[in-house]
Amino acid sequence: MDLLEHQGKQLFGRHGLKVSDGKAVTTVEEAVAAANEVGYPVVVKAQVLIGGRGKAGGVKLAANEGEAREHASNILGMDIRGHTVRTLWIEHASDIATEYYASVLLDRQAKQPMVMFSVEGGVEIEQVAQDSPEKLIRHHVDALNGLSREEAVQIATDGGADADVIEGVADALLALYEVWLSEDATLAEINPLIVTPDRDVKALDAKVSLDNNALYRHPENQGLSDSENEDPIERRAKEQGVQYVALDGDVGILGNGAGLVMSTLDVVAQAGGSPANFLDAGGGSDAAKIKQAVELILANDKVKAVLFNIFGGITRCDEVAKGLIAAFEEIKPSVPFVVRLDGTNDVEGRRLLEQAALPNVHPAKTMNEAAEKVVALAAGAQASAGAAA
Ligand code: GDP
Ligand code: MN
Repeated sequence: MDLLEHQGKQLFGRHGLKVSDGKAVTTVEEAVAAANEVGYPVVVKAQVLIGGRGKAGGVKLAANEGEAREHASNILGMDIRGHTVRTLWIEHASDIATEYYASVLLDRQAKQPMVMFSVEGGVEIEQVAQDSPEKLIRHHVDALNGLSREEAVQIATDGGADADVIEGVADALLALYEVWLSEDATLAEINPLIVTPDRDVKALDAKVSLDNNALYRHPENQGLSDSENEDPIERRAKEQGVQYVALDGDVGILGNGAGLVMSTLDVVAQAGGSPANFLDAGGGSDAAKIKQAVELILANDKVKAVLFNIFGGITRCDEVAKGLIAAFEEIKPSVPFVVRLDGTNDVEGRRLLEQAALPNVHPAKTMNEAAEKVVALAAGAQASAGAAA
């Protein structure tokens, strides 16, 4: 689960990392009130789950109420690479002498936590890693011993931090490691970690991802999920315990088993179609679960046609057919379905479907045939919708 900047900063503050005071708001009036409260100059910051907000015009300094109002009204509702700005973070602006970079993450290859630090902050760190890799310090940490102050000082020194802020940077690295460890984060990143003219070291930005599987250990973090920005169908799927990922095409996909669903996405793309979602009905899906899955797929109104690709192993094709029939009785879908049933009880499953004679359900024998059919149907549906309009 990715956190918004202001939520990440809340976690930073909890562990003694220095951050500026601020307020999260959702309207221009609230933004102006918050700016008056934290004191000018302020910085008005778009809260979206994507970086590079500054470049996109989503981070602006305001010297007075008029500017705060102007920036807040410009940034609220702004689209930053597909993310609509619904929340602003207003904080007292900092004076910046230098911008550094710091992060803690798990290096899966080394199977160890890794602290990264660079004096080339404020820019995209991938760029630094590419252009001047020697300026990006990567330090592996012994997970059992944790990060020691000596190590933190060494990282700051090796990275070339100004001599008078080595201790301050080390403090920040230790606190960041603590955030990463004790909050069960998968990533804790600060870019930029600034040095102020008073030689204070402070986090000006925050990028934190929490491990969803460890959320149960952090009841205080459970409210942080950005449900407002989360895809509503993904949220519903999560609540129902279904593996669903929203994509931006128009062909609804259901398969059983992550591998089969992935290849179904590929085959549909190969046939010239564009999948609307990933949905893994899982092994041993019964009729009730299939019905739920159909509801999820059709909740996306971009879906023009649906492909059911089931390879029965533990899952029984007759159960899938029953689920589909039950779903049709209740939902009466208006879009065509292509169904490929293969494997355990496939003959019975196909017989049930034939008997039910569901409107607009097209059987297919192979995955490729199914993909071609569904793509043609989606295109046809689009054409007729266009003709009607
Ligand atoms: P990002 O573009 O999404 O990474 O957003 P950041 O929070 O990192 O802000 C982008 C840039 O805006 C920073 O690198 C700073 O240069 C600038 N910025 C952000 N906050 C302040 C501030 O309080 N004072 C000043 N002077 N600049 C700021
Ligand atoms: Mn940043």
